[in-house]
Formats: sequence, structure tokens, C-alpha cells
Amino acid sequence: MPPIGIFGGTFDPIHFGHLRLAEDMADALGLERVLFIPAGQPPHRGTPRTAAGHRLEMVRRAVAGNPRFVADAREVQRPQPSYTVDTLTALRAEQGHERTFWLLLGADAFLDLPSWHEWRRLFELANIAVAERPGAQLMQSGAIMEPLKSEISQRQPAEGPTTGPAGSVLLRTTPQLDISATAIRSILARRGSARYLLPDAVLDYIHEHHLYTPHEH
Ligand code: ATP
Repeated sequence: MPPIGIFGGTFDPIHFGHLRLAEDMADALGLERVLFIPAGQPPHRGTPRTAAGHRLEMVRRAVAGNPRFVADAREVQRPQPSYTVDTLTALRAEQGHERTFWLLLGADAFLDLPSWHEWRRLFELANIAVAERPGAQLMQSGAIMEPLKSEISQRQPAEGPTTGPAGSVLLRTTPQLDISATAIRSILARRGSARYLLPDAVLDYIHEHHLYTPHEH
């Protein structure tokens, strides 16, 4: 059974940094598909400013046309806070124990992992693929603090496409686009142009729904 990628985020809004990370990992790991799962109420980031329905619709528009990419509404549809461990447990129940799962993370999200709900269980449910910037060398730099460091030292280094269902960690060095949702929101708040930072279809949606721009009085 071909492996699948699981990519969660606030996606407020989704941008080319996210899409490029997913495409690069899909190629490197032979992913059959990547599920983009916008968070409903992110437990450790406060309430996102944009309604979950809008963030989901932006993800839908961004992934349309890429046969490997799927927008997954499960966290947006849940009334409770959305924990990644619950999402992975649900996906395991659907897909079975043989299926290889890759949880895709940027380096910043990975370093923050010990603050996530039941974070150690994530390693039992999935493999973890981290996109690290060239030159960052997380393992050597001392950036990975305890207890994450000892957790990953017990884990198998991943073997790329032949990795088993769960339990390995892959640090993949890959050029990252220097784009953040925060920067896009601030450009739009001052009515600047965010073109070429995110797909046109997402930008059109933002303009249609007057997202991120200050209200006129
Ligand atoms: P914000 O600026 O609001 O914090 P963000 O752009 O970092 O948002 P998130 O939705 O918080 O986006 O990120 C979801 C995932 O995407 C995280 O794992 C994060 O590390 C990763 N990510 C975000 N931006 C990039 C980028 N430019 N390149 C690679 N990965 C990224």
C-alpha cells in the first residue's frame, strides 16, 4: 500500500511555502497523496483570525489541479479542539496498520513538538518528515532540545520510500521558500500585493471575501 502524507496547519492563508514543502516530500517519499488538514481550533496557537470555513475553502482552491493533493475537512468539522494525535488515530482506524503514514512538518513546528497534546504518541502513529533549511542542520546545531532529542535518538532514521508504517524520523534538507502566512496577512492589511506568494485562485478568494483587509468605516 503506497504511503500517504498528512500535513496540518492553520493555513491562514495557505501559500507556496506550504505547497512546495508538500510537493517536495511527495516526490522524495513516494507519497500517493498528501492530505492537507486545516486546524479547526488550534489548541496552542489561540483562535485563528479567519473562520475555519474560509481557511478550508482556500486550501481546496490551492490543491485543485494537483492529483496528489487532497483537502481534508475533518478538523474543521469537529466541535472540539483538533489535536493531531486524534486525527492520526482516526486516520489509522480508516487506513489500517499496514499503511505508511508520514506526518509532514516544517522545522519550526517540529522543534515545538513537545508542547503538543500527547506528542510521544505521534511517533507510534506515523513517521515524521521534517523539512529543514539548508545549513540549519538541526541535529548538529543543538537546536533540538530535550525531551525531543532523546525521543528521536531512540527512533530509526528513515529509509525514504521503503520506511515502515510508523516510528521513524526523517530530516530532509530542502530549500524553503521564505514565505509566511503572517507576512502575507500584513501585506494584505496594508492593501499591498501578495501576488506570487500564494496561488492566484487563493488570492482571488481572499479579495472576493475581503479577508485580511481592514474594515472600512
Ligand atoms: P503563520 O505565519 O501564521 O505562523 P505559517 O505560514 O507558518 O503561518 P502554518 O499554517 O502555521 O503556516 O504552518 C503549517 C506548516 O507549514 C508548519 O509545519 C510549518 O512549519 C510549515 N511551513 C510554514 N511556512 C513554510 C515555508 N515557507 N516553507 C516550508 N514550510 C513551511
